[in-house]
Amino acid sequence: MTTNNMPLGRRINTLCFLLYCITLIISLHTLWQTSYQSLQISNQQQLERFKRHLDSQLGHYAFIPQLLSAQDVIFNAFQYPNNPSVIDNINKHLQSINNIVTASDTYLLDKHGTTIAASNWQKDTTFIGNNFDFRPYFQDAIQGQRAQYFALGSRSGKRGYYFSYPIKNEQLVIGVIVVKMDLSLIEKDWIGKEQDFLVTDNDGIVFISSRADWLFHSLKPLSEQQVRAINNEKRYLQRPIPSLPPIYGALDKQASLLTLANKRPFSNYYLSLFTVSEDKQWTVRVFAPIVPIIIELLILTLIITLLYLLIYLSLIMVKQQLHRHQEQVRLEAKAKQTLEMTVLERTSALQAEIEERHKAETALRSTQKELIQSAKLAVLGQLSTSISHELNNPLSAIRSYADNAIVYLDRDKLDNVHENLTRITSLTERMAKISAQLKSFARKSDGELQVVALQPVILAAQELLKAQFKSQQVELTLDMPTTFIEVKADAIQLEQIIINLLSNALQSMQGSQQKQIKVRLSYNENEAIIKVLDKGTGIDKNHLAQLFEPFFTTKKTGLGLGLSISQQIINNMQGKLTAQNRQEQGAEFTISLPIYLSLKTVNENSSKEHAQ
Ligand code: ADP
Repeated sequence: MTTNNMPLGRRINTLCFLLYCITLIISLHTLWQTSYQSLQISNQQQLERFKRHLDSQLGHYAFIPQLLSAQDVIFNAFQYPNNPSVIDNINKHLQSINNIVTASDTYLLDKHGTTIAASNWQKDTTFIGNNFDFRPYFQDAIQGQRAQYFALGSRSGKRGYYFSYPIKNEQLVIGVIVVKMDLSLIEKDWIGKEQDFLVTDNDGIVFISSRADWLFHSLKPLSEQQVRAINNEKRYLQRPIPSLPPIYGALDKQASLLTLANKRPFSNYYLSLFTVSEDKQWTVRVFAPIVPIIIELLILTLIITLLYLLIYLSLIMVKQQLHRHQEQVRLEAKAKQTLEMTVLERTSALQAEIEERHKAETALRSTQKELIQSAKLAVLGQLSTSISHELNNPLSAIRSYADNAIVYLDRDKLDNVHENLTRITSLTERMAKISAQLKSFARKSDGELQVVALQPVILAAQELLKAQFKSQQVELTLDMPTTFIEVKADAIQLEQIIINLLSNALQSMQGSQQKQIKVRLSYNENEAIIKVLDKGTGIDKNHLAQLFEPFFTTKKTGLGLGLSISQQIINNMQGKLTAQNRQEQGAEFTISLPIYLSLKTVNENSSKEHAQ
């Protein structure tokens, strides 16, 4: 797969990993360079210090044999070798010198290499009588040269550094003086340092070291020829010289990285530095462990890895958060869409429902109007007897007044004619009034609610039924406050309801003794109350519950629509129509309507009308 085809997540991962690797390589390389350099510098300084220390320690002794060789007392030993007191003096002298210069041993060898006087003359391990002609320091000195040499002491077994000088008589070498220094004193100062120090001879055998286990080991395996030569010199007293565990790396390079094959993990890597003494007899080496650098590198690796892990985890977290956010936004959008769809569906359903309702309402309203109309016609039918009576009476009166007028006209009694015509006019006016009222009752209402004063409505209803009350000899009392009580209503419908109630009351009182009907108007701060009270039959208890049901009637010719329509109309005006029996006798119908208050009094109102 090419990088272009890789998914974004994997591309970011690969990029992060590459960045991590690059950062790690650069950081580790830089740290290694700087640490290695500073380790090299510090160890180079340490090596120089160490070499100076060794030089100065050895330098103390370098010229002591030469100084001693010039002393007469030393020379005497060769003049009087068999004189015990002379030799005794020389022994004491060498002992005192040895003590002063803090050497290990100081001694005199004759020309055959046999010790003739020594500072250790009193010790069991005294050199006196021992022959050292095999030692190179003797061999060189007897040849007339200054010499110095490292070896294990053949008597003491201790590591010593030997400084020798020839003792001459004229130009003839007659003996050798030797000063031996104890090397373990130098070593003491080097132990406990961070780095390991070692001094090797020309065969690479360690003879001074801060590591005791490296002493008398060769850096590389020795050849047979080397072993043979070493044994001849008895430098190491013919003890076996094993080699150190294999050392990998360029030992001969001034500064190099070495790996020692030992069993300790991490601790077998060293920076190796060395320097050779001026006489090229020995080499001083420093082995500085690079474990601290390795630990630093590991720590840096750990820090960088942790840092990258942290960045990577943060990136993953941010990515997840983004993903969650996107998911949330998606879900929200989906939920919103679903909600919008539901709202749309519900709205259209609601719209359809509203339309249905409108249709039903329109149908209901028209049915209601038709019903009202039927109910009104029914009332008119009930009123027909009294109406015809009301109309027939004036008609017959008009007829007789007219007949009489003709007679008076024939007799030329014009005054009487005039009187009769005036009466006829008044009677026709009354008939026109009745007809107008009937017309008004039969007219259809538009159902609009307006602010209506209740008193005029009640008075109009009374006026319409006046003839009927009179014919049935029923007493109608109106009990109304002088303050105009106003409500929001359809005046025509309200008037027709009151007529209906009054008409029912009239019918219920046909057999009653006390024929009294009362209309009482009252109000409180919330409502206006119209009560129609009669002293008729009252309502059968069993009928009370169904009184307002459409087509409920107890009358032979009744329609049973009056009360149910009246109740519906009052409900539409936010009012109530209820019925109950009166305590004493008869029924009580109550209309209550929300009040639309007016403080004008009836009188005030009427006086204003007059003024206009
Ligand atoms: P209808 O007058 O055609 O019967 P209504 O709806 O006006 O129809 O009246 C229903 C019934 O209520 C009447 O048949 C009657 O039994 C009863 N009712 C109405 N008003 C009164 C009243 N004032 N007293 C006694 N009963 C009444």
